[in-house]
Amino acid sequence: MDISPDLHMHSTASDGVLAPAELMRRAHAHGVRTLALTDHDTLEGVAEAAAEAARLGMDFVPGVEVSVTWGGRTVHIVGLGVRAGTPALEEGLAGLRAFRETRALEIGRRLEKQGVPGIYERARALSNGRLIGRTHFARALVEAGRAESVSDVFRRFLVKGRPGHVPGQWVALEAAVGWITAAGGQAVIAHPARYGLTRTRLRRLIAEFQAAGGVGLEVVSGSHSRDDMFTMAAHARDCGLLASSGSDFHDPATPWIELGRLPPLPDGVRPIWHDWPLAA
Ligand code: AMP
Ligand code: MN
Ligand code: MN
Ligand code: MN
Repeated sequence: MDISPDLHMHSTASDGVLAPAELMRRAHAHGVRTLALTDHDTLEGVAEAAAEAARLGMDFVPGVEVSVTWGGRTVHIVGLGVRAGTPALEEGLAGLRAFRETRALEIGRRLEKQGVPGIYERARALSNGRLIGRTHFARALVEAGRAESVSDVFRRFLVKGRPGHVPGQWVALEAAVGWITAAGGQAVIAHPARYGLTRTRLRRLIAEFQAAGGVGLEVVSGSHSRDDMFTMAAHARDCGLLASSGSDFHDPATPWIELGRLPPLPDGVRPIWHDWPLAA
């Protein structure tokens, strides 16, 4: 296996810009042969992606990235190998999407007060009639000429302490891991270096995650530095977590990292795919 599995990416089913089938074709063209679609809080893109991945002869893993509130902050838990149609997971995700609707209206109201009229409608239009997230607001503000880039919008409007910020009220860690496990999946802490946790707090997150049945840590991530990768590899090893790897790809124009360009997992960790029946 020359090119690392890419087990974290987004399509138009959440806040990615490529349709699920297009995303599969782009990954294939970049040499990826094992991959997971992990849209935020929905499995809506999985069937289309699975069909296209099968046509291309890739090993496809149905996945999801669940929004969690833990210790007053938002943490993302990826579920890999989840069965669609599992009631606990499907109903849980539907609840998160319902929160996204009320949050979006509130973000819209707050941005209107900042003198950005009609921004909810613009963000809604960019969400393709599917799940709505902060990225859609960010793209809408860029299109309206109110900011230079998506990351500029996050910095100025959407993060904590900024006028368009609405605190997340997501699901508890234990519940998210429970849904994923109930659907036959493996739960993985996404991009662990992104949360700004001290070592002690990260170890507490890992302990609670493992107590709930979580098994993996994203060691390689498009949003990790090289140092982050080695730090997280050490945590995975010390805590007995399986190591995952994913780009968190959203947009060909501004990839954290391009599909098919992930570094290999560092030595000494066990890949989460070690016992998967891979064909490609
Ligand atoms: P949401 O789940 O709707 O709150 O949005 C979270 C998503 O926003 C993440 O998955 C990223 O795609 C995006 N995001 C968060 N922070 C930033 C940032 N600083 N720059 C660009 N995109 C970001
Ligand atoms: Mn996203
Ligand atoms: Mn995430
Ligand atoms: Mn993601």
